[in-house]
Amino acid sequence: MEYFADLHVHIGQAKNQPVKITASRRLTLHNIYDHCINKKGIDIVGIVDCASPFVLEEIREQLENEEIIPLPGGGVRYKDKLTIIFGAEIETTEVKGAAHSIAFFPSYEQIKDFSRIMSEYITNIRLSTQKASLCAKDLFKIVKSLGGELIPAHVFTPFKSFYGSCYDRLSYAFEDELDKIISVELGLSADTDFADTIRELATKSFLTNSDAHSLEKIAREYNKMELEFPDFKNVISALKGHENNYIVSNYGLDPKLGKYHRTFCPACNYVAHETSPVEKCPNCDNEGITLGVFDRIALIADFSTPIHPENRPLYHYQVPLEFIPGIGKKTLEKLILNFGSEMNVIHYVDRAQLTEVVGEQIATNIILAREGKLSFKAGGGGIYGKVID
Ligand SMILES: [Zn+2]
Ligand SMILES: [Zn+2]
Repeated sequence: MEYFADLHVHIGQAKNQPVKITASRRLTLHNIYDHCINKKGIDIVGIVDCASPFVLEEIREQLENEEIIPLPGGGVRYKDKLTIIFGAEIETTEVKGAAHSIAFFPSYEQIKDFSRIMSEYITNIRLSTQKASLCAKDLFKIVKSLGGELIPAHVFTPFKSFYGSCYDRLSYAFEDELDKIISVELGLSADTDFADTIRELATKSFLTNSDAHSLEKIAREYNKMELEFPDFKNVISALKGHENNYIVSNYGLDPKLGKYHRTFCPACNYVAHETSPVEKCPNCDNEGITLGVFDRIALIADFSTPIHPENRPLYHYQVPLEFIPGIGKKTLEKLILNFGSEMNVIHYVDRAQLTEVVGEQIATNIILAREGKLSFKAGGGGIYGKVID
């Protein structure tokens, strides 16, 4: 069966205590469950702040009340509609800079052990994505020894990522362990065409996740997976690529819509649009620029045009409904009320039905987005790109 999975969602608070400071306080376990099921239409969610003792405590209570049921292959099930995978995003200390990775574990016991071990490396384990005083390779060994998997997160973003701010190659970070990394998360502003210009990624699967810091942003990027059963074991098998378990397609923003697509000059607010990479501001000559994902990849690529491995899934440019011209909060609510979830609106509802509810213009825009026919103005410097009306 096919499932929609978003494996990078943050928690704002648990046990009335802050967890991820920069995330919305409305991101609680229960709100995430309900939002995935009733608004987004997500079937599998990876929650990446589960090593916080406050979150662990809530998970323990929910297991005790049998609100969430452990699955034999790992992960837990809520209302028999949503699979939850326990994860923790960790910031490691690299030779130059810091990088984010997500550790995923099959069970509550394992992530609890992980939390205990990591508290030796992290000053405040209660807060999420705190800097740990160890490198990615050592983190990888800890995660593996507990039966987990480590996925390098948003690998190209200019801040706190392996390619974006630490290394020209993942192999410099993981060395001989790189072969055992099964997957990397592309992150906003990068797609399969970008990533497949780097040779060492040819054997890795790609994940497109939302990195949601608010309920609304859940599923702005996601993966469609064919799975025998929606549990931890089958999801990992899909990341490795298998006959019965595999990623069918990635759904992500057009890289141009990402906040860090092109190089940005903080001195004069210039966003680069040149076809070749820019290393200093073409407008004011400032060298203290924020290198965009496009520009960074162009600098470190092995191939000038992407070489896709045979089994690479299709990457579909996905326009979140809130980006589509004419769709405000009210219209979005109306769409979900009528069609059940955002996934249904984005993927399945036909033009006639859409027109009946939101009129012809918006219906046309939704269909154009589905077919990848909207045009965009590039983003950069922390400002999202725009759909051109
Ligand atoms: Zn991160
Ligand atoms: Zn994150």
